[in-house]
Amino acid sequence: MPKLRRTTTTHLAVLRELEVVRVHDVTPGMRRLTVAGPALGERVVEGPDGQPVTLPAFTSPGFDDHVKVFVPPSGAERPVLPRQRPDGLDFTTEGVRPLGKDYTPRRVTPDEVELDFVRHGHGQAAGWAERVRPGDLAWIAGPTIGQAFPHGVDAFVVAGDETALPAIGRFLEELPPGVPAQVVVEVAGPQDEQDLVVREGVDVTWLHRGAGMEPGTTTLLADTVRALPWPAGDVYAWMAGESTAARDVRTHWRSDRRVPRDCLDVSGYWRR
Ligand SMILES: Cc1cc2nc3c(=O)[nH]c(=O)nc-3n(C[C@H](O)[C@H](O)[C@H](O)COP(=O)(O)OP(=O)(O)OC[C@H]3O[C@@H](n4cnc5c(N)ncnc54)[C@H](O)[C@@H]3O)c2cc1C
Repeated sequence: MPKLRRTTTTHLAVLRELEVVRVHDVTPGMRRLTVAGPALGERVVEGPDGQPVTLPAFTSPGFDDHVKVFVPPSGAERPVLPRQRPDGLDFTTEGVRPLGKDYTPRRVTPDEVELDFVRHGHGQAAGWAERVRPGDLAWIAGPTIGQAFPHGVDAFVVAGDETALPAIGRFLEELPPGVPAQVVVEVAGPQDEQDLVVREGVDVTWLHRGAGMEPGTTTLLADTVRALPWPAGDVYAWMAGESTAARDVRTHWRSDRRVPRDCLDVSGYWRR
């Protein structure tokens, strides 16, 4: 029976109508939307038997949690939204289904949630993030699953592209003092490097795709991860990014580094 390194908690899916209160480009390639409003708190809805049911306040316990951000389908002004039920969300609609895209809450306070959008210039979520202005509405749901920070770990190896930067930023803030970590992040160029919390024993390497190289078209991240020296002890390996890169890194960590399942967390965050 493998050890469990992360405690999982599940949360009722709650749709929250919020207001965009700030729009700020952290770097040229990353737009930060800060959303806020009373809907981050608890609210009471009517249950099936007419009794009041309390929907929980927003919480994001895991550094790599994600919410669904509901965005308008092509050509529409407003998103199609799921309906809130006392026991979760109902996605059945007569026409277009709700379009919810996954984003990591970069910073959470009782009053605000920050979401960082890669400005990749193609999709509905990326396009919505370009258009919205302070005062506009935003709809999010989740996180419905949260995993606590891994425990009983001697060292971390962490990698990702810019879609993983919100999770990696939180990871570095939550990393316990004294636990070493090697972190590799792929971005377009030096202008897209972010200020991250880098404690003693943490080594952050920024990889630059370089001018004209589209995300998801190089093997830079997987090649660099393959060449990393491997720390001693129980190593937790976390990676997120483009699906092909994620597959390569997962194969390397499983086959070459023999990382046990309870210490391996690799996710394809998007597909080129
Ligand atoms: C758990 C989880 C957490 C995530 N957290 C974040 C986050 O915090 N911030 C964030 O920006 N993304 C995050 N992502 C990735 C994000 O959900 C995807 O990039 C998503 O596809 C964006 O939706 P879209 O509507 O903009 O583009 P889509 O409609 O999905 O795609 C349109 C086109 O854009 C391309 N594309 C999609 N994403 C990218 C990209 N990043 N770079 C270049 N081309 C792209 C696709 O290949 C496609 O051709 C996360 C994904 C997961 C699964």
